[in-house]
Amino acid sequence: MSQRRILLSSPHMGGTEKKYVDEAFDTNWIAPLGNNVDQFEASVKNFTGIEAACALSSGTSAIHLALDLLDVGVGDIVLCSSLTFVASANPILYLGGTPVFIDSEIDSWNMCPKSLEKALKYYRMQGKQPKAVVVVNLYGQSARMDQIVEICNRFDVPIIEDAAESLGAKYRGRMSGTFGKFGVYSFNGNKIITTSGGGMLISDDTVSISKALHKATQSKEAAKHYQHEKVGYNYRLSNVCAGIGRGQMEVLEERIEQKRRIFDKYVAGLQDVPGISFMPEIEGSFHTRWLSTLTLDPGKLGVTAEGLVDYLADHNIEARPVWKPLHMQPLFKECEYFTEGQDHSRYLFEHGICLPSDTKMTDEEINRVINLVKARILTHKLLA
Ligand SMILES: *Cc1c(COP(=O)(O)O)cnc(C)c1O
Repeated sequence: MSQRRILLSSPHMGGTEKKYVDEAFDTNWIAPLGNNVDQFEASVKNFTGIEAACALSSGTSAIHLALDLLDVGVGDIVLCSSLTFVASANPILYLGGTPVFIDSEIDSWNMCPKSLEKALKYYRMQGKQPKAVVVVNLYGQSARMDQIVEICNRFDVPIIEDAAESLGAKYRGRMSGTFGKFGVYSFNGNKIITTSGGGMLISDDTVSISKALHKATQSKEAAKHYQHEKVGYNYRLSNVCAGIGRGQMEVLEERIEQKRRIFDKYVAGLQDVPGISFMPEIEGSFHTRWLSTLTLDPGKLGVTAEGLVDYLADHNIEARPVWKPLHMQPLFKECEYFTEGQDHSRYLFEHGICLPSDTKMTDEEINRVINLVKARILTHKLLA
């Protein structure tokens, strides 16, 4: 085990982050808010073309605030992609809402527009109006937002776009995260850029973002004494962390290129192996390839995704299964789930794998992963 550990996706500093962090120290703006926060928000606005942005302590807090601003309360239905990290749906529970899960389509791995429409029709027949739809953009690719926006408009349900994994992705030329009423980014340590921990809530509705900012600072009213009329949270990003974010925004485009290059190398090395299918980049979509993901056809390969993850772990390489769908999680076992026949999200979980996509990997390390994947598959074939 002499070789360096290969990670799934680890923080990758560009070099200017420290300068901005030092700025916070030099001006003693260690407290939340300050120039780094303003500049970080400005750079995200500039990059995405959105009107308003509010830097927060996490992507999860951004989803929580968005749901709160859409007035989600006890018993309210919120539709949500099933194939995602738990943070997409946990905030629905914070507010006492009822999550309802929607299957993925097999092409984009993201929310299936047909299953979404089926759910919305079902609730309309029941005389129930869902309060929001949380659409997740997995692994660096936008969902089919043109169709999803059209359906949600027709049923008059606002969209929260969970773009935690898709900063920099585009769909039909438009930035991922800017399609819904609200968009959410995460700057957690494993995301394409990081602030060590952080998130952002964005919207073209400046009034709503002002409200978010108010709620994120304990709903403190403008008064010399501490005056509070509504419930609030302590959700703002620290000015120190925002300094990291400012520096990271300067290398975002470079990181996207690196991520896409890693993916291309995997494709070149593995596409001839029958039974391996890479996550498709759907028409009109620009995929950042935050994580390089693929499915293994067990009928053709005889090796499971789980088996391959374990095998790579034995070689000091971090790979992961695809997200376990939320409708399969004990936490959500009472929740409804809408699908069009086949359960695609279950299939993607059972057969999908995320290969190491760390932008600090060398070409030799990428080749090492490719050769090990091939070796594992070949060994199994020989034994079979
Ligand atoms: C990372 C992630 C989040 C949560 O972001 P945090 O900043 O970790 O709170 C939400 N949704 C998805 C899909 C994520 O991958």
